[in-house]
Amino acid sequence: MKPTAFSYHRPSTLDDALSLLALHGFDAKLIAGGQSLAPMMNMRFAQPAHLVDLNALPQLKGVTLEPDTLAVGAMTRHHELATSNTVRADCPLLAEAAATIGHYAIRQRGTLGGSLAHADPAAQLPLIASTPGARFDAGP
Ligand SMILES: Cc1cc2nc3c(=O)[nH]c(=O)nc-3n(C[C@H](O)[C@H](O)[C@H](O)COP(=O)(O)OP(=O)(O)OC[C@H]3O[C@@H](n4cnc5c(N)ncnc54)[C@H](O)[C@@H]3O)c2cc1C
Repeated sequence: MKPTAFSYHRPSTLDDALSLLALHGFDAKLIAGGQSLAPMMNMRFAQPAHLVDLNALPQLKGVTLEPDTLAVGAMTRHHELATSNTVRADCPLLAEAAATIGHYAIRQRGTLGGSLAHADPAAQLPLIASTPGARFDAGP
């Protein structure tokens, strides 16, 4: 099957992304790696009227080691979590878990934020994120 018709938005700033969400409300859905949402749209379990693509927002990507925190952006791909020396050194469980997700193509596209938001009970990253000490920053 193919998805129902939708409008596609690719904001280049976080402010624009947030404005689109505010404007379209529950008619809009964010898309990150598309590895869970696209199949759901193709099967028409999800039928958003507006798709807001997060892929042009570099500030949501990457891994940073702060004084007592490993900070991971929502748009960081599973592949980066699996191969980052910083993640391997600071939180090896996260790197090991990310390396076991799906196959190579899935890990190249899927993101931490998408996996956590999708919250499949069988998924690796929501389980890792529920370990003591993990914290979510939802604000820009
Ligand atoms: C063949 C296949 C095998 C897979 N195997 C595994 C596996 O073994 N283990 C596993 O854990 N997962 C697996 N997955 C799922 C994969 O990890 C997905 O990448 C992940 O679940 C969703 O991430 P995404 O970036 O693709 O999100 P998307 O599909 O783009 O989005 C998923 C949901 O999250 C929302 N969302 C995305 N980003 C954000 C954000 N920043 N803030 C708020 N909401 C957001 C979207 O609106 C949507 O509702 C598999 C997928 C496929 C297709």
